[in-house]
Amino acid sequence: MTYETVHFIKGEEVASSGDKRQDIYNPATGEVIGSLHLGGPEELKKVVEVAKEASKSWAELSLAKRTAVLFRFRELLVAKTDELAEIVVREHGKVFSDAKGEIARGQEIVEYACGITNLISGAYTPQAATGIDAYSMRQPLGVVAGITPFNFPVMIQLWMAPLAIATGNAFILKPSERDPGAANFIAKLWKEAGLPDGVFNVLHGDKEMVDGLLTHPDVEGISFVGSTPIAKYVYETGVVHGKRVQALGGAKNHALIMPDADMDVVADHLSAAAFGAAGQRCMAISVAVAVGDAAEVTIEKVAEQAKDIKVSNGMDKDADMGPLITPVSRDRVKRIITEAEEAGAAVVVDGRDLVVEGHENGYFVGPTILDKVKTEMAAYGEEVFGPVLVVVRVESLAEGIELINSNPFGNGTCIFTSSGAAARRFTRDIKVGMVGVNVPLPVPLANHSFGGWNDSLFGEHHVYGEEGVQFYTRKKAITQRWPEPKQASGASFNFESRNND
Ligand code: NAD
Repeated sequence: MTYETVHFIKGEEVASSGDKRQDIYNPATGEVIGSLHLGGPEELKKVVEVAKEASKSWAELSLAKRTAVLFRFRELLVAKTDELAEIVVREHGKVFSDAKGEIARGQEIVEYACGITNLISGAYTPQAATGIDAYSMRQPLGVVAGITPFNFPVMIQLWMAPLAIATGNAFILKPSERDPGAANFIAKLWKEAGLPDGVFNVLHGDKEMVDGLLTHPDVEGISFVGSTPIAKYVYETGVVHGKRVQALGGAKNHALIMPDADMDVVADHLSAAAFGAAGQRCMAISVAVAVGDAAEVTIEKVAEQAKDIKVSNGMDKDADMGPLITPVSRDRVKRIITEAEEAGAAVVVDGRDLVVEGHENGYFVGPTILDKVKTEMAAYGEEVFGPVLVVVRVESLAEGIELINSNPFGNGTCIFTSSGAAARRFTRDIKVGMVGVNVPLPVPLANHSFGGWNDSLFGEHHVYGEEGVQFYTRKKAITQRWPEPKQASGASFNFESRNND
């Protein structure tokens, strides 16, 4: 029995007028479980019109009323976490506890957005000149769109929509075609929370719908998260069409391991950061940069952990890791491992031949560790986005920092050490947006904003936090005078100086 996933526009599920469809798979079984309606020009036109109309009255609603919706939405998200997590596991493949974890991280942004009254307050400067007060306010952009990747079908839309909505915009979500179900489930939660119809909409589709949003004159802002080539394309196309764009791209996150690190901590955290969610996290650690003697012990201990990881269907209670998202991803990951081996890398733990009993058609690759990897190999140079940890050896902290800084990506990184001085040098010199000290997945809290550097982010603003509020609003500065009758003194034709008022 398969299901159909359609658009969600103006508070209702809406089928495509055309017949463009895409199969939805369960990556753990390889079975087709649903059919997704991909939008065309008609759906695009309708969703933008609806959002434009809804944005006007929503922006006029008091902050108190907007906040009340956010509080209710947060409660529903908590109450329905298990149901939502099951959808994520079914279409994405990650393990159930991890799916719940991504919902919890998204929930943090909803909670942050509940404080919008405080976040949106502007500045006031009384008596800037005699009888003149100056103040500033932030106003919504109008219609904004979020284009999201497959790997966090809940969390990433929640990086965007809560703040876009709290600041008074209407939001159009264009989720990944590969796991679209969470988007519709969440759309219904927004409705149940009392959000007026048309303020949160879901438009399913592929490149055609992305291009439609990027070029539509009534879409003012685009938040994108996905791979680097598409992020760059989205940024460039959106900007050329006069939009504000934040486009987060791919990653190649390095963990630098100093010889003085607590190696048990390294083993626990590195294996979880490399193999959790089958390596399909933008913050996954995919390169271990071992300094001096750290290499042998790191490899030995992480390899022990890797061999104990239970790979299975994400709904299995003891599963630690699930499948990759598509057979194409699985085959690509295996090819990259094989090419590295042929070029001289040592395959310390090999996940290529893994077969999960009862799930022979699932897209599984087991945890894999590659040692003696050279920077010219694709295993190092490309974002593998699979459960593959690559080990590169360096002689010093300085050499490790230089290696990381020469990588074109700059999303996340971390250092494992017991030296405060090494940690301080690392955090100051590294050219990466999110840095951990003995924390391998340094995903920032809601108030610290999320974003990488270099090829991991195109645009000025990080997502969520203060930068999220800024992204979804325009600043307006007001200078006001309320003259009393006796002050009227005729027109002045000079640019007024505040010193000579
Ligand atoms: P993707 O780039 O293939 O897709 C992302 C979105 O872009 C989807 O909605 C998709 O429909 C759309 N898209 C795909 N091809 C397009 C095209 N040619 N033109 C216009 N739109 C297109 O990414 P993915 O495979 O879904 O997700 C994995 C990638 O996302 C990885 O590179 C990962 O590092 C990255 N990612 C980055 C972050 C971050 O915060 N920097 C977070 C999560 C994922």
